[in-house]
Amino acid sequence: MSDCLFCKIVAKEIPADVVLETDRALAFRDINPQAPTHVLVVPKEHFQDAAALAAADDGWADAVLQAGQAVAEQEGVAEVGYRMVFNTGPAAGQTVFHVHLHLLGGRNLTWPPG
Ligand code: AMP
Ligand code: ZN
Repeated sequence: MSDCLFCKIVAKEIPADVVLETDRALAFRDINPQAPTHVLVVPKEHFQDAAALAAADDGWADAVLQAGQAVAEQEGVAEVGYRMVFNTGPAAGQTVFHVHLHLLGGRNLTWPPG
């Protein structure tokens, strides 16, 4: 999608602090981190939200989840624990409508989130 921020990051038209790239997913640091580790994992194809990703054929959801786990290991938070979040829709605070997995870790994470 030509006017999508994360499609532009995937296309390398907008810079990002990339921590992992696979054939199907790109992981980069959130510009406004909420934890010492706060990485966004996006599919390289445009899906607007988690519902669209879940409905996608061909393992796109697997690719995002697997990249998220790889980043957790790379960031050193896999053992102690981390959180993966998909904000989905306005009531959940989704602001960028290209699905992204938030990987949060590196501090004690409270539950429930706000
Ligand atoms: P959400 O509110 O779940 O849609 O999350 C969108 C996230 O994208 C927020 O945490 C923002 O800080 C983050 N964000 C917005 N623009 C950028 C950018 N250019 N590079 C990295 N992260 C961004
Ligand atoms: Zn997009």
